[in-house]
Amino acid sequence: MTSMIHVAGIHVSPDHYIDGQRVASTETFELRSPIDQRVLGHISEGSDAQVDAAITAAQRAFRAWAALGAEGRKPNLDRFADEIGKRADAFCMLESNDAGVLLSRMKHGVVPRAMLNIRWFAEHALTLQDRPIETEQATHIVRHDAAGVVAIITPWNAPLMLTTWKLGPALAAGNTVVVKPPEWAPLTCSMLADAAHAAGLPPGVLNFVQGAGATTGARLVSDPRLARVSFTGSVGTAKRIAQAAAANLVPCSLELGGKSPFIVLEDADLDGAAATGALMYRNAGQVCLAGTRFLVHSKVANAFVSRMRAHVEQLTVGDPREAATEVGPIIHPRQVERVKAFVERAVADGAELLWGGAMHPFGAQYFQPTMLTHVKQDSEIVQNEVFGPVLTLQTFDDDEEVIAMANGTDYGLGGVCYGEVAHATAIAMQVATGFIWVNSFGIRDLAAPFGGIKRSGVGREGGDWSFEFFCDVKDVVVPKKPFKASFSHR
Ligand code: NAD
Repeated sequence: MTSMIHVAGIHVSPDHYIDGQRVASTETFELRSPIDQRVLGHISEGSDAQVDAAITAAQRAFRAWAALGAEGRKPNLDRFADEIGKRADAFCMLESNDAGVLLSRMKHGVVPRAMLNIRWFAEHALTLQDRPIETEQATHIVRHDAAGVVAIITPWNAPLMLTTWKLGPALAAGNTVVVKPPEWAPLTCSMLADAAHAAGLPPGVLNFVQGAGATTGARLVSDPRLARVSFTGSVGTAKRIAQAAAANLVPCSLELGGKSPFIVLEDADLDGAAATGALMYRNAGQVCLAGTRFLVHSKVANAFVSRMRAHVEQLTVGDPREAATEVGPIIHPRQVERVKAFVERAVADGAELLWGGAMHPFGAQYFQPTMLTHVKQDSEIVQNEVFGPVLTLQTFDDDEEVIAMANGTDYGLGGVCYGEVAHATAIAMQVATGFIWVNSFGIRDLAAPFGGIKRSGVGREGGDWSFEFFCDVKDVVVPKKPFKASFSHR
């Protein structure tokens, strides 16, 4: 057994959770906090044999779990949600320490949402009734059957939220699961295993194998016994995962990066737009659905910039565990270098800094909220996802131009559009994206579809869309008259 990890009086295992038991590896990797780079502990690195054991356990547990039906699974999943709730403070502290997420956001947003992810889908699975289609010839009983063993792979920027968002529907639909948590922020997934264990989920129903993406993750997604792969992360990784899964024709759901537009029309409420604009620095800009390309009507650009600057100047950058902090650290020194290099290249390419642009004095992994202008549509900073507190601002003169600019990248995840409601809605309709908020940001509902188009993803999760992905749809055909076999029968 590897030594337990102790964070602020909380004890969490650094090991895998396979077939209802903790399993350690001889190989481990070091985990550091983005807050101050202190070593949090050493995490077990999943071997091929451990990935294999997790899939075997999930396969063994599948039949009985699927046979419980949605009604039988619901009490198990409700207990799982309860056990998450009992550990709320620990989840908050762990993810704040290993991922740098604001403690206040964990408490008020992420942990309640994680519980809801499990509870809501357990309840919603009760609607997965057989749906008969009656024709003159036959009754077609359309069923949603559990697909089998599901692999779930999530990124470090919101591990608890994103893992439960996939776990809820996958388990509620009757699948068994192997999760490969993000190696830069693996602690809340480990505590999810504790919650599942305490809830009495049958062994093998939910397994966690810690490890690096290129080794443990790659081994997992190439296994032919998988029925589905649900992935959230970057475009490059998605391509590798899709290739590995394609070798076995395993369907993938891919929720990927974004370069979403934040449109401010001439008739926008500039105060509202500016206040919402400052929210794009949440989680130090490490949010896939943030609007990172500001497209502002030239007639209101100066007024908008001065309002947004006033909000940004008020932002408190610092320790995510402090109640007053609004912008925390960047996850990893490698990501800090990446963000810095993006800004340096943009400036060398002619971009001008409206604010920020440098490291923040608070610490080694803190970057100033930054806004670049005078950027060209085809420049790297406009076209590529930075995934840090770095935004761009371009101006436009008419609706046609802003729609072309909004749609002028390979991404299509989200978007924000501020303006008079009918006008903003009409523009939003023409932005090529998976979702877009009119005069608002971040309103989500578990019943609604979520996902991206173009390079931002393949497929949709959320509500019925999750079940479409995590289930096998079957048509059981029962004829209404005796069937007469005939070669001329169609
Ligand atoms: P990443 O792609 O580097 O890693 C994501 C996960 O994939 C990690 O757990 C990693 O270990 C694993 N992985 C890496 N290589 C693998 C392989 N070959 N096989 C299997 N697994 C592998 O992404 P990241 O840097 O952790 O996260 C940031 C990215 O995630 C950004 O692009 C962001 O936009 C995106 N994201 C998207 C959403 C969404 O819902 N669309 C949400 C959050 C983050």
